[in-house]
This record gives sequence, structure tokens and C-alpha cells, in this order.
Amino acid sequence: MDYKKYITIVNDWPKEGVQFKDITTLMDNGPAFKSAIDEIVEYAKNKEIDIVVGPEARGFIVGCPVSYALGVGFAPVRKEGKLPREVIKVNYGLEYGENVLTLHKDAIKKGQRVLITDDLLATGGTIDATIKLVEQLGGIVVGCAFLVELTYLDGRDKLEGYDVITLMEY
Ligand code: IMP
Repeated sequence: MDYKKYITIVNDWPKEGVQFKDITTLMDNGPAFKSAIDEIVEYAKNKEIDIVVGPEARGFIVGCPVSYALGVGFAPVRKEGKLPREVIKVNYGLEYGENVLTLHKDAIKKGQRVLITDDLLATGGTIDATIKLVEQLGGIVVGCAFLVELTYLDGRDKLEGYDVITLMEY
């Protein structure tokens, strides 16, 4: 499917010079969203995934339906102060800003096979931080799935050695 026609490009948001790729216009189209999720499920189904992990908030939108279809759990990666129990933390830089990501300390068991999901790969900072959290707990990242990749920001460089799928590129 040509998913790009469902993405809305918003110029100068959230700040000047950024061409924001709005995925909500893909999500609110039932057949397009289903097809995108189905493609990721197809990619993941033979990887013996134990759990799906995604960063807030759009990593949940992609990751939860995938985990449901695979019949495995989902563990949320969240900004500092949002998860109620003991967490591990990683600092990371965004395309536009700085942040701390956290994961519940007991979310992943050592040796579990993990699929990481997010809506979009830009500089790779968010996914790199998410991988670090999973690996700190002994998880094995066996795949990373995104709807969109901004190839001009070279996020793939941070994902060398990992198995990655993206459904569209800009
Ligand atoms: P990165 O950490 O630079 O790879 O940025 C990726 C993260 O920022 C993802 O969690 C995205 O949700 C968010 N993001 C960055 N740029 C965009 C965009 O153009 N559209 C939607 N999300 C974006």
C-alpha cells in the first residue's frame, strides 16, 4: 500500500524548520492503519517475540496492536515521572529537545526476545535510548519496526547490527 498518501506534512511544527510528519491521518483511516499494522505483524511473526516495547506516545499506537496480534505483552517506555514503580533510566537527545526515558525494572526478563516499535525514526535518539533500556534488563532486541523513516537524519547509523523495518521513507 502507498502509505505516504495518508501522512500529512506540517511545516514549521513544533518549531520553525521542522517538517513534521503527522501520522494521525494514517491512524484514522481504518484500512490503511490495519494494513500498516498487519505488515509489522507479518515481519515479526517468525521472530519468536516475547514482548513488544514502545516509547510514548506514538510507540504505543504502533506497538499495542502488534503485541495484541502476536499474542504477547507490551511494555511502555515513558518519560521520567510517569511510571509508578521502580524504573531504570536513560538520557537521550531528540530531533527537537532533550529528555529522559524510563522503563519498569521488572518489565523485561533476562533473555526475552523483544520487538521495539515507534511511529517514526528520525535521528535515532529515541530508539537508541529504548534499546539501551531493554538491553540493560537483559532483553534481546530482535527487531525494530517503524511506520516512517526520515533517511536524511541518519537514524539507521545508530541501529547498525539490528534488524529494522520501516514502511515508508522520506
Ligand atoms: P528521533 O529520536 O530523533 O529518532 O525522533 C523520533 C521520535 O520523535 C519518535 O518518537 C517520534 O514520535 C518523534 N518524531 C520526530 N519527528 C517526528 C515527525 O516528523 N513526526 C512524528 N513524530 C516525530
